[in-house]
Amino acid sequence: MTLKDHLIGRIHHDGPMSVSDFMSECLLHPTLGYYSTRDPFGAEGDFITAPEISQMFGELIGLSLAQSWMDQGCPSTFTLAELGPGRGTLMSDILRATRQVPGFHEAAQVCLVEASPALRQVQAKTLGQYTPNWIGTTTELPEQPLYLVANEFFDALPIRQFIREGEGWRERRIGVTEDGLAFGLGPNAPQIALNDRLGDTKDGDLVELCATATPIVTDIANCIASHDGVALIIDYGDWRSLGDTLQAVKAHEKTRPLDDPGQSDLTAHVDFERLAMAARASGCAHTRLTPQGVFLERLGITTRAQALIRNLNVPEQKRLISAHRRLTHPDEMGNLFKVLGLYPAQSAPPPGLEP
Ligand code: SAH
Repeated sequence: MTLKDHLIGRIHHDGPMSVSDFMSECLLHPTLGYYSTRDPFGAEGDFITAPEISQMFGELIGLSLAQSWMDQGCPSTFTLAELGPGRGTLMSDILRATRQVPGFHEAAQVCLVEASPALRQVQAKTLGQYTPNWIGTTTELPEQPLYLVANEFFDALPIRQFIREGEGWRERRIGVTEDGLAFGLGPNAPQIALNDRLGDTKDGDLVELCATATPIVTDIANCIASHDGVALIIDYGDWRSLGDTLQAVKAHEKTRPLDDPGQSDLTAHVDFERLAMAARASGCAHTRLTPQGVFLERLGITTRAQALIRNLNVPEQKRLISAHRRLTHPDEMGNLFKVLGLYPAQSAPPPGLEP
């Protein structure tokens, strides 16, 4: 059975499904889902993420996290966590770059929040030497200081989509027509969670809501507010979401989200304002939303690139220069990707970010 057959069966049985249910099934269905069945990263995969572009990304994040740990008095035991570690490349670069930081590795307990069994196996290969602990959700994070990174994790969480109509909203749903899966609209209804968007939207505007992001940020922020730590959340998106950002990518090309369910990566832009609001409600401070390029430049990516380039041959030098540009340039990932930092109200903000 294909995932498409499974979805059509479910829609015949239960009626049209929300975009959120569609995304969950496509990404994480236990046997047919996109992340459950493959390792999608890298040049041969469907997409490439910042840590896979260059080791500099993880190294600088490692140094930022280690500096926060020192600024907070070097707690003697802490959780070094990553949400959705993919191949484990980012965490591996973080750990290599922080090897020289006295006491950091001895105090760190590596914790990986990963839903996909296939990717857990890949991570076990990359990170096995650090004896990581895998957990399925942030509710299981240990009660101790938490230094956490999430790169392209929140964009993989399922969103619902609503179209404004008068003082109510119609939910975008996926049904079945003669041609296969198709978008439709549910009935007009009030949405309490979108009351705060009645002021800045008009009829016909589409707003996205990621219900699962809030409890995840709440768990992280509660831990940081009680025990110290920081969280660096990196993703594409803006302060406030407006418009349809559901996107499917296969073999580095955009495709239509309803074509080939389970065979392409599905993401949506992150609404950082909602993450920041949830963090604040749990007693955490947050930084200004900072473009990835600015963040990496402040942490010294150009100096790091200059140091690395000395030991490389000409083709490798070209690759490094292109990686630096890809990560930082405003026409590439530099502006599209943003960084949000969460930290205790009494602490200094994480290096690279401003309050
Ligand atoms: N951070 C990595 C990979 C990003 S892809 C990188 O930058 O390369 C998204 C990752 O999040 C994958 O590892 C995927 O399996 C995981 N993931 C997606 N939804 C999840 C969920 N609800 N809970 C835990 N992990 C999830």
